Amino acid sequence: MITHNLFWEDPYKKQASSCLETIIEEEGLIFEKSLFYPTSGGQPCDLGMIEFENFSLKVVNVKKTATGKALIVPDFIPDNLKLGEPAKQIIDWDLRYKHMRMHTALHLLSVVIPFPVTGGQIGSTKSRLDFNMPDAITDKQIIEDKLNSLIANDLFTEQLWITEEELEKKPELVKTMSVSPPKGSGDIRLICIRSEIDQVDLQPCGGTHIKNASEIGKIVIGKIEKKGKNNRRVNIHFD
Ligand SMILES: [Zn+2]
Repeated sequence: MITHNLFWEDPYKKQASSCLETIIEEEGLIFEKSLFYPTSGGQPCDLGMIEFENFSLKVVNVKKTATGKALIVPDFIPDNLKLGEPAKQIIDWDLRYKHMRMHTALHLLSVVIPFPVTGGQIGSTKSRLDFNMPDAITDKQIIEDKLNSLIANDLFTEQLWITEEELEKKPELVKTMSVSPPKGSGDIRLICIRSEIDQVDLQPCGGTHIKNASEIGKIVIGKIEKKGKNNRRVNIHFD
């Protein structure tokens, strides 16, 4: 299990302290642990502030490094930063919570439309998934009704960890063909959406999700676009 991502440990945490581990000149800062989610898997990064003892930095971007750690890009990098120095990370919670709601809504959309997902993008007001499906969706009201009834169905999310070998034995878990699950650490993070009795969705995912599906609120299906021969893009937004 990977422990340096505080946004996995508790996606509802709005601030946390950690020590500065690496300074990458003219690029950004890496902390021992990050509350800031780095742009990845179609989910945009968190924004916010980092408070050192005597000054604060504004976070303008967060990237995922090759090791999987978050590279936090501040508005500027002061000369007097010291490795090992503790700082408080404060995320823009309004933005993060919208991403969490949207992200979880897209999982449920992939349940309602059971075709392979080839791409997607999460936003704070609208999001989309691309499906590999040859036929047009003729009644989007049915999709919207099914999605909203799932949202209202007292479902909750939980994270599980399995090994890469276990995942290789169960390739059907990977729904998103364009985003391969994070590999290399030996452990794969899965997100399960379930009711007390039934499992609704299970797939590898590194994003942040809300605890209870009802937190998503009502979702409206927007435009459904044909993007290529076998590709349908389904747009959603908050009501
Ligand atoms: Zn997810």
